[in-house]
Amino acid sequence: MQDHRRLGRELELFHSDPLVGAGLPLWLPRGAAARRAVEDYLLDLERCHGYQHVYSPPLAKAEMYYRSGHLPHYADDMFPPMALDADNAFVLRPSLCPHHAAVFSSRGRSYRELPLRIGEIGGQYRAERSGVLGGLARVRAISLNDGHVFCAEDAVEDEIVAALSVMKEAHAALGFEPSSWRLSLRGGGDKYVDDPPMWDRATAVLRRALEAADVPYEAAEGEAAFYGPKIDIQLRDYAGRESTLATVQVDYFMPGRFDLSYVDADGARRRPVMVHRSAAGSMERLFAHLIEVHDGAFPAWYAPVQVEVLPVGDASGREFADRCRALGLRIEEVYAGSLAARIRDASVRKVPFVAVIGANELAAGSVSLRSRDGAVSQLPVDAALERLISVCRPPKHAGAAGSSVSV
Ligand SMILES: [Zn+2]
Repeated sequence: MQDHRRLGRELELFHSDPLVGAGLPLWLPRGAAARRAVEDYLLDLERCHGYQHVYSPPLAKAEMYYRSGHLPHYADDMFPPMALDADNAFVLRPSLCPHHAAVFSSRGRSYRELPLRIGEIGGQYRAERSGVLGGLARVRAISLNDGHVFCAEDAVEDEIVAALSVMKEAHAALGFEPSSWRLSLRGGGDKYVDDPPMWDRATAVLRRALEAADVPYEAAEGEAAFYGPKIDIQLRDYAGRESTLATVQVDYFMPGRFDLSYVDADGARRRPVMVHRSAAGSMERLFAHLIEVHDGAFPAWYAPVQVEVLPVGDASGREFADRCRALGLRIEEVYAGSLAARIRDASVRKVPFVAVIGANELAAGSVSLRSRDGAVSQLPVDAALERLISVCRPPKHAGAAGSSVSV
């Protein structure tokens, strides 16, 4: 594995500008194209598993974070509140949870709507010290693939198991495996909400879910969120350093802080449990890992450019390029330079396919398709397009258990 910062620069995926600030990377067009493909895939995967997506603003009144417990327990990691006037101070949010709790309480809820699964790829902020920042792996502006499941107590274990299964599906599609799974428990000190029975209950349900999902894990004390224990999906970078990509957390604390409730079948008001989960973590840390694990050669479905069209001599690649675009493929037509130099350049940039079109190909209605591993095949245009589409489409979803529809 190589350092993602070097590959990110060489492949023009992202950029850090000192004027913008450390830990605030810019996603360049190529990096943004890959990220967009991955985001689309993740949102689609979540929809398939019953999530509804929302948009929420990346800041809120400071009062909201007193209520959530972030300002009392987590202020050291937050940017200081911004006072707009005497009555209004705003905070760049350290997490999306309170906003999603506000989505839940936007109207009365019935037990029939549960589990309510709310998802968003949204911004959150962390006041990291300059010394720890590095490329995409540790940033101050985080784009999190987040989601919150509001459910009844007796559904918590199933929801955690389902969240773990969505995660495994996403990791397989993206082409990596976590280095380990960690059950993060509370430690000593006043960092944690002081309610021992709540911690015991939450820890027990996470253990049961890990066993039901058949995930081998190690427990670690002092790594929990301030409001509850969590399952952490751990990765290792090119230098062997470990970090957390994504988590599943069970939370009996915040629903009470925001006074969330639903009307149960017997007409009684009950408090839902919140399951916080992310399938793929932040886009930044995810891509730091994807760049390293694939050595910059992403699977074709999220490669920034999937096909490079190289016309030779007087031949035009326009028609083939237009057909590729119409099929939703990300392509680039390159005219300048010798054919050998253009092929070499595409290979340095790790483009999955190169389509060469010369006079012979035009006359025969074919295209010479070269894949990243060097294999070349001469194919009729329709067959070439079919092949490209089959390799460049995102993986199909396994679908939620029991949700199969017969047509
Ligand atoms: Zn959350």
